[in-house]
Amino acid sequence: MFNIDMEGVDFEKTYDLIVLGGGPTAIGCAIYAARFALNVLIVGKTFGGLIATTHLVENYPGIVSTSGQGLMDMFKEHMNSLSIPYISDEIRSIEKADDHFILHSFFQKFKAKSVVIATGSERKKLGIPGEEDFAGRGVSYCATCDGPFYKDKIVCVVGGSDSAAKEALFLSQNVKKVYIIYRGEEIRAEPINKKRVEKNHKIEIIYRTNIVEIKGDNTVKSVIFDNGTEFEIDGVFIEVGSVPNSDIAKHIGIRTNDKGEIIINRKSETNLPGVFAAGDVADAPFKQVITGVAEGVIAAYSAFSYVSEMNIEY
Ligand SMILES: Cc1cc2nc3c(=O)[nH]c(=O)nc-3n(C[C@H](O)[C@H](O)[C@H](O)COP(=O)(O)OP(=O)(O)OC[C@H]3O[C@@H](n4cnc5c(N)ncnc54)[C@H](O)[C@@H]3O)c2cc1C
Repeated sequence: MFNIDMEGVDFEKTYDLIVLGGGPTAIGCAIYAARFALNVLIVGKTFGGLIATTHLVENYPGIVSTSGQGLMDMFKEHMNSLSIPYISDEIRSIEKADDHFILHSFFQKFKAKSVVIATGSERKKLGIPGEEDFAGRGVSYCATCDGPFYKDKIVCVVGGSDSAAKEALFLSQNVKKVYIIYRGEEIRAEPINKKRVEKNHKIEIIYRTNIVEIKGDNTVKSVIFDNGTEFEIDGVFIEVGSVPNSDIAKHIGIRTNDKGEIIINRKSETNLPGVFAAGDVADAPFKQVITGVAEGVIAAYSAFSYVSEMNIEY
C-alpha cells in the first residue's frame, strides 16, 4: 500500500522532535515541524491511521470528496516533498533522560529533545460472548476492509454515530440488507448521512436494542438481542466508539481524563514539559481529521518554541 522508507532515519541522533503515530495528526504535525526547520522523525505503527479505513471523506476543506486512503496518499506526498523520515515501528515506552527523551520500541531506541504523541485510538469492543471467537469470521471493526466479502449477505452495524451510519451506507453498496442496531432513540449521524440512511431502501434501523451474544458455527449465523430474540445475520460490524492509545503517556506520568484521553491545553502541551499530544488520543470533545491536524500543527509550533528555548545559550 505505502512504500515506507527508512532512508534518512538516524538511530544515533537526538532529533529535535519525534512524532508518534502514522495518522493525519502525526503527519500534519511533522509537516509544520519540518517547515520550522526542526529535525523531525515520525515513528508510526501503521501509516494512514483510522481515516484510511473509511471509504468517504467529504468534510476536509479544499477536498470535496475522496476516500480516507486517497486523503492519506495526499498527506504522504506532502510529507515526502519535505523529505521527512518515517519509520514503521511501535513505541512501547518513553523515558525521560537529562535534557531529552528516549523512546523504546521492541528492538530500537530513538532520542529526541521533544515528543508529540499522536497515537489515536483503538476501536472499542462490545465485550459480549462470541465477539472474540468470531473476529474475522463474521465480526469486523472495519466495513471498508471487510465489506466486500459480504456480497448479497445480510449484515448489521452496531452503533448510532456518524461513523456507524457511514459504515452502513458503504456496506449497502454490496450486501442484500443492512440493519443498524442502536441502543438509543435516534442515530447521531451528520444530517446529510442521516438523510442518506433514511432514503436507502437496503438499510433498516432497529432502535432501543443491544446485542448480548453472537452465535454461529464456522462463521456468524445469528445474534441474540437483549429482549431474548435470536436474529439471523451473516456479519456483525461493530462501530461503538474507541479507546485512546494513551498507555505510554500514563506510564511516564502524563495526566489523562476519566476516558483515558491525554489532557492538553491550547498549546497542545501535556503536564510534562517537552511532551505534547494531539488528535484522537487527546481530550478534545470533537474528533475529526481537521481537528487532529490543527492540534498537531499547534503541537509542532509548541515543540519548536520549546526546542528553540533549549538551544539558547545564556
Ligand atoms: C468509520 C470512520 C469514519 C470516519 N470518517 C471521518 C470523516 O469523514 N472525516 C473526518 O474528518 N474524520 C473521520 N473519522 C475520524 C478520523 O478517522 C479521526 O479523527 C482521525 O483519524 C484521527 O487521527 P489521529 O492521527 O489523531 O489518529 P489515528 O488516525 O487513529 O492514527 C493514530 C496512529 O498512531 C499509530 N500508533 C498507535 N500507537 C502507537 C505507538 N505506540 N507507536 C507508534 N504509533 C502508534 C497508529 O498505528 C496510527 O497510525 C472517521 C472515523 C471512523 C472510525
